[in-house]
Amino acid sequence: MHEMSLACTVVEEVERVLDECGPKARAISVRLEVGRLRAVVPEAMEFCFEAAALGTRAEGARLIIDQIPIRVRCETCDDEWTLESVEFFCPACDGGVSVLSGKELLLRTIEIEDDEE
Ligand SMILES: [Zn+2]
Repeated sequence: MHEMSLACTVVEEVERVLDECGPKARAISVRLEVGRLRAVVPEAMEFCFEAAALGTRAEGARLIIDQIPIRVRCETCDDEWTLESVEFFCPACDGGVSVLSGKELLLRTIEIEDDEE
């Protein structure tokens, strides 16, 4: 399950940001952008994030996943569309395609609470 290694990467990144925010900062929610080509199962990702965050400063934070559709462009006729199934050729002219989006894995926002008065 590759979600576990992704979740560990996200937790490390959240901890790094929290370190910069001060000793008492803790994460409330973490928003992630994941391209559909990453084939991440949101439920599995949430489960792995929760597990990976245990005992870290990211523990208890809510993971919000935004899935980014796979956009491609035909290299022959320049047509652009969103892939619903994984077919890497142009239905109009049979040309090869370039992937425009769908490979993202971005930590978008971290909502942070700081207990310090
Ligand atoms: Zn085409």
